[in-house]
Parts: sequence; C-alpha cells; structure tokens
Amino acid sequence: MSSPGFVTVSPDLLDALSAVAGTENVITDPAGVETLSKDYYWYSPVLRRRLEERRASAVVKVSSLDVLRDVVSLAVKAGVPITPRGAATGNYGQCIPLYGGLVLDLSGLDAIVSIADGVVTAEPGARLSSIENAARAKGWELRCYPSTWIKASVGGFISGGSGGIGSITWGGLRDDGNIKQIKLLTVEESPRIIVLEEAESLLAFHAYGTNGIIVELQLRLAPAVPWEQMIIASTSWDALLDFTQAVAEDPLIPKRLVTVLEDPIPSYFKPIKKFYPAEHHLTFLEVATPKAAEVKARAEAAGLTVSHQIPHHEPRRAPMLSDYTWNHTTLWAIKADERITYLQSGFGDNYREQIRLLHQRFPGEMMFHLEFVRGAPRNGAMNRVSIGSIPLVVFQSEERLKEIIHYCTEIGVFTANPHTCYVDEAGRANDFEQQRALKLKVDPKGLLNPGKMKTHPVNPFVVPGSMPQFLFA
Ligand SMILES: Cc1cc2nc3c(=O)[nH]c(=O)nc-3n(C[C@H](O)[C@H](O)[C@H](O)COP(=O)(O)OP(=O)(O)OC[C@H]3O[C@@H](n4cnc5c(N)ncnc54)[C@H](O)[C@@H]3O)c2cc1C
Repeated sequence: MSSPGFVTVSPDLLDALSAVAGTENVITDPAGVETLSKDYYWYSPVLRRRLEERRASAVVKVSSLDVLRDVVSLAVKAGVPITPRGAATGNYGQCIPLYGGLVLDLSGLDAIVSIADGVVTAEPGARLSSIENAARAKGWELRCYPSTWIKASVGGFISGGSGGIGSITWGGLRDDGNIKQIKLLTVEESPRIIVLEEAESLLAFHAYGTNGIIVELQLRLAPAVPWEQMIIASTSWDALLDFTQAVAEDPLIPKRLVTVLEDPIPSYFKPIKKFYPAEHHLTFLEVATPKAAEVKARAEAAGLTVSHQIPHHEPRRAPMLSDYTWNHTTLWAIKADERITYLQSGFGDNYREQIRLLHQRFPGEMMFHLEFVRGAPRNGAMNRVSIGSIPLVVFQSEERLKEIIHYCTEIGVFTANPHTCYVDEAGRANDFEQQRALKLKVDPKGLLNPGKMKTHPVNPFVVPGSMPQFLFA
C-alpha cells in the first residue's frame, strides 16, 4: 500500500491511540480502513481514477472532546496527517486522505447541545436529520440542508457542502448569517479552541477540513412550517418553466424546494415512477400547506398536470421528493446508467437559451436538472431567484468534459467543478487568502487533510510531481 507520500502510522502510535481512544476505536484492518477512507468520489470518473489508491493508514473514532484533544496531540507529536470524516457523503473526495496517516471519524461526537431562540448548538457529528427532528419538536426547522440529511453530519455539511433544501428561501450556508458560530480545535501539540463568530466563521466554511477541526457550531433556524410536496408534470418544457419560475419568485408562497427535471431524468427514479406520467418533464415542489391548493390551481390553469401530492407528516416519512433532488438526482441517474456523471452550474437569467445552446452543441450528452435558489437582491428586487443546476452528462472522455466546461464558460454558465478534490480548484467563492491564513494559525505543521488546499504553502508530505492532477491542471 504505497501511494506517493503515504505515511504509515507506527505501531507505537497505534498503541498510544488505543490507550486514549480505546482499542475498539482504532481501526487498522485493511477493509475497514479502506471503507472509512472513501466517500462518494466515484460520482466523478476523473476522481475515481486519481483517488482510488488513496487511503488512510489507520482510523480513530472519537466521541468526546477530551479524547479528540489527546488523539490530535499524539498525531502532531508524531507528525502524522489527520483527515476529519463525518458521514463521508461528500462527493469530491474531500475526506479521502492523500497521504495516508489517520482518518479521524467524528460521527460519535454528535450531541445536540441546545435549541433555543432560533439557534441550534451542536457537535459536528450530529446528523442533520437528528437536528431537524429535534428542532421541529421545538417549533423550529433547519434553514437549509442537503438531500443527504438523513445520514450527513452537520460538521461535514459546513466543511464540504453548500446548500440544498431550503435554499430557495434562505440561500446557501454562506448567506444571511445562516452559520452563527464555529468552534475549531487547533492541530498543535497542545490543541486549543478558537471561536469564530458570524461572518468570520465563513473562514472555516467549505474548507474541506483543512483549516481546523470543528468541535461545535451554531446554526440559525427558521420557524417550522408544514410542507406539502407536489409533483407537477408537463410535456412542454417552457410551460413548466414559466409556472415554476413564477412560483419560485412569488414572495407570498413560502417554499422549501423548487426542482425541475428534464425528461428523461424522471425515468431514473424507480421507487416513485408510479406517481407521474412517463416522458414528461417534472417540477418537484415543497410549499407551505396552506398555499398548496392555490399552487395546484395555478398549475392546472397553466395546463399542467398535478400528478401527485403528499400532505405534511410529522415526522417526515417516505416518499420524500427531496430524495430525488439536489445531488440525489445524480445518484439515481448513475444507478440507472453508469456512464452518467455531472456538473454543478450556475445559469444566468437567459438560462433557457443557455440550455438550448448546450443541447445544440452536445446533442444527447446533457440532461438538465435545475434547482431554483434564492438569488442576490438586484435593483432593489428581493424576490429574485438564481438558477442553480446539476446537469447530468453522459461521460465520454476527460477531454470532452473539459470541452463542455469551456463552452459553458463561453456562454456565461458558471461551473463549480466537481471533478477535482482541491478546494481551491472547485471554483466556489471562498476567500482563499484568509482561509490559508487561518490554516497557518490553526495547523502550523500542515497536518490537516494535507494537499486539499492545494495553494497552501505548507505540505510536508508532498512528493514532487505526484499530486493528483485534475481536468484543468
Ligand atoms: C447523494 C448525494 C446528495 C448530496 N446532496 C447535497 C446537497 O443537497 N447539498 C450539499 O451541499 N451537498 C450535497 N451532497 C454532498 C454532501 O452530502 C454534503 O456536503 C454533506 O453535508 C457532507 O456531510 P458529511 O457528514 O457526509 O461530510 P463528509 O463527507 O464526511 O466530510 C466532508 C468534508 O468535511 C470535512 N469534515 C467533516 N467533519 C469535519 C469537522 N468536524 N471538522 C472539519 N472538517 C470536517 C471532511 O474532511 C471533508 O473534507 C450530496 C452528496 C451525495 C452523495
């Protein structure tokens, strides 16, 4: 087992880790280590090729802050890389160690400390579904969450995710004070806690666990709403988009999900195919129950078919339409046809024309899945939406994928490249200079998920010429 720069955890360190974390929480068997070293990187054929050999040398599961401090201190003294892991639902290989060492499984550090005054305080391993359920019991709900909410951890969402269900109203995680506070543990011989408040907390947001180990965080919540789920079908792409955009932009309709799926994408959703007609484009909505009748009437007046409605149920139960939206859409598509991969795009106001151009240039290679999210207010208008998209692409070659991304740029479609494991190549609007500065402060020896912040100057493990190179290197 030797990918370039691979760091083996020594028997002495394993003994010391077992003494502080418990022997049962130190995993060294190759199959267990392999499983706990991987995430959903295989969504990308590019990442799959580059990362399948990469794994940890050992895994440590921690479930208390005291144990975490001891583990970090031992790893720092030994100069061993540490890669944090939540539930490993990230899909850019974020929690795959590039240089062996330790994977730090934080899923056991999962307390929900408090829910009060519209703020949840939680440990990083708490599942988003646990937080949502606990919040709803107190009259609150998450402002936004990923479609992996049943399994994903809140620490992993902050470190590797961006937004999801709820983003039509609240924007992404980085918007509007959605993150109130982050507490980080430093990676030093004597680890310290650093508290980042409000806007400063964004320095540790979407950093792939490179600039501090999140040990507690605070998210702002929204008042709980009963949500009705609706499937609206049409053979007319334009009629469906006219209706969907109007609902998305209507400030009087509270909503949590506005997803559009181009035919044939709905044909991939085997468990729910009975709820809609074949060969139709679909819109999936979650709207406030008191508005559902009005939305239904508007759809029917526009000549669309409301093919299924699911009343609110507490707690939520299957079928949940959100299981087929955001990056779950991609999962169902890959299950049905393993040639499929994806992009993450931001379209302009002229999105229909941009989609038409992409179809024309790459016939039969792209299928469009749109996520309407709240946009930045422009010209004083607060009800603007942005058209996010996770288009499906029938993968042909890396060259072709590059060509598609280049053409997207040419016609004004933004791409957050999901075919790289480097945070600074992914195209998100991070403030890398400040994120690098935080890393120097928190992780002076460069031990934390080394390599993932590619432009960070301290990487003691790099072997010249051997860092995985992705599409645009
Ligand atoms: C089917 C599918 C659907 C998805 N849908 C969405 C979606 O709707 N929206 C979205 O934003 N994302 C989505 N994702 C991506 C992913 O599920 C989310 O980002 C998720 O919240 C990650 O949580 P996790 O616990 O699995 O994190 P992990 O994958 O375990 O970790 C993600 C990153 O965070 C780091 N990390 C984990 N815990 C900590 C910690 N305590 N301190 C510091 N760093 C840490 C890891 O090192 C890694 O770099 C989807 C992925 C899949 C496979």
